[in-house]
Amino acid sequence: MSASARDSVDVLIVGGGPVGGTAAALLARATRTERDAPRIAVLEPRRPVYPAANGPVDLRVSAYSRASERVLQGAGAWDAIKARRICPYERMRVWHEHVAPTSPDALVFDAAEVGEPNLGYIIETRLVQSALLDAAEQAGARVVAAELASLTIGEDDVHVETSAGTLSARLVIGADGAQSAVRAAVGVAAETSGYQQTAIVAVVGTEKPHQSTAWQRFLQTGTLAFLPLSDGTSSIVWSADDELAKSLLAMAVADFESALAVALDNALGATRLVSERASFPLRRLAAQHYVTHRCALIGDAAHVVHPLAGQGVNMGLLDAAALAELLIAGRHEREDPGALRILRRYERWRKTETHTLAVAIDTFDRLLAHGTGPLARLAQRGLGWVNRSEEAKRVFIRRALGVAGELPAAARTASRAS
Ligand SMILES: Cc1cc2nc3c(=O)[nH]c(=O)nc-3n(C[C@H](O)[C@H](O)[C@H](O)COP(=O)(O)OP(=O)(O)OC[C@H]3O[C@@H](n4cnc5c(N)ncnc54)[C@H](O)[C@@H]3O)c2cc1C
Repeated sequence: MSASARDSVDVLIVGGGPVGGTAAALLARATRTERDAPRIAVLEPRRPVYPAANGPVDLRVSAYSRASERVLQGAGAWDAIKARRICPYERMRVWHEHVAPTSPDALVFDAAEVGEPNLGYIIETRLVQSALLDAAEQAGARVVAAELASLTIGEDDVHVETSAGTLSARLVIGADGAQSAVRAAVGVAAETSGYQQTAIVAVVGTEKPHQSTAWQRFLQTGTLAFLPLSDGTSSIVWSADDELAKSLLAMAVADFESALAVALDNALGATRLVSERASFPLRRLAAQHYVTHRCALIGDAAHVVHPLAGQGVNMGLLDAAALAELLIAGRHEREDPGALRILRRYERWRKTETHTLAVAIDTFDRLLAHGTGPLARLAQRGLGWVNRSEEAKRVFIRRALGVAGELPAAARTASRAS
C-alpha cells in the first residue's frame, strides 16, 4: 500500500521489526473496537515472509523470554508463531573456560526447578516479524512498504516524507533499529562504544544432542553460545575479539568446525557447519533521550546491548508494551498521543531499567569473558557460588524468564516463578 499526500494518521511506527511490529499490534488490538479507533500505520521497507517449514533456518534468531511470549500473545501473534518451527529451551548451562561444563562450578538453570515447562524459545526473527505485522493488519493497522526519508516535528503534528509519499502523524514511534533515522532526524544524540568484538553467527549440527539446552561458555577471548533449534541443529553466536573473529571467518570450514568444538570444550562433540558464517560488529548504544515532543524511541533505536545475555529484543518488546499501555491509558483520558506528558512517563519507566541491565551485561562481559584480575577471578568463581545458592539462582532464573523489574501488564503473568 502506498502513502499519499492526504494521508494522516494518529500513530506512525517507523520500522516493522519485532519491536515496531509489537507496538503496532498491541495498539491496534487494544483500540480496534472503539468508535473513533486511532489510525495506525507502520513503515517497513523489507517485510519478510514466513520461513518455509523445511527450508534452511535463518541466521537471525533470538532467544525470547517467557515474558516476551506473553507480550506476543497480547499482540495476537503467538498462535501463528507457535504453529511454526520454534524451539523451547528447558535449561541453560553457563560455564567459564577454567572449569569443565559438567563441574559444580558451571551454572545450570533448569525450568523444572521453578515448576515451568521451559525458560523461553529460540525463534527466527522473520517468523516473529511476519506474525506481528499480520496481527497488526488484522487489527486495522496499515503496513506501508516504504522507507522514511525525512521528518519535521511541528506543534500539532509530524510531517513525514517516505519513499512512497507524504504522511502526517500526531505521534511518530522510532522502531527502526540501531541506525535509527528517526533518532537522527529528531536530533537525539546517542552514546556509542565498540566492544572490539565481532559476533559470528551460523547454524551447526552437533555430534551429541543439544538436550533442549542453551549452552554458553565464557572465554578470555569472548563468549560462545549454542542455542537449540527444533530440527536438532543449533544456532551459534560466537562473540570473539576482532582479531580472533577475523581469523575464524577466514578459516577453511573443517578448521572452523574443529575450533568451534574446542571452544565449547567439546560439550556437544564434533560440530558441522550447515550454513554460511555471517558476522556483526558489536557495539553498545544508549540514546540520551527516549522521547521528544511527538516522538518516542523503542527497541534498538533507543538501546543496543551485547548479545551475550540474549536480552536485546526482550528489552525492546517490554518498551513496546510499556509505551502501548501508557498511550492506551492516555487515550481513555482523552490525551493527545504526542503529548510529552505521556511520553515522559514511558521514558521514566524504561530508561532506568534498560540502563541498569546494559551496565550489568557489560560487567559480565568485562569480568567473565575478558577479566584476568582478582575481581574477575572472583566473578568467575561466582558462577559456581550462584549455582549452589538457591536464592541467588532464583534471581537469575527470574531474569532469564524475563519476569524481573517493573513489567508492563502485557508481560506480567508470564510465569508462576514471579
Ligand atoms: C548476533 C546477535 C544475536 C542476538 N541474539 C539475541 C537474543 O538471543 N535475544 C535477544 O533478546 N536479542 C538478541 N539480539 C538483539 C536483537 O537482534 C535486537 O535487539 C532486535 O532485533 C531489535 O529489534 P528492533 O525491532 O528494535 O530492531 P530491528 O530488528 O533492527 O528492526 C528494525 C526495523 O526497522 C526497519 N527500518 C530501518 N530503517 C528504516 C527506515 N529508514 N524506514 C523504515 N523502516 C526502517 C528495518 O527494515 C527493520 O525491519 C541479538 C543481536 C545480535 C547482533
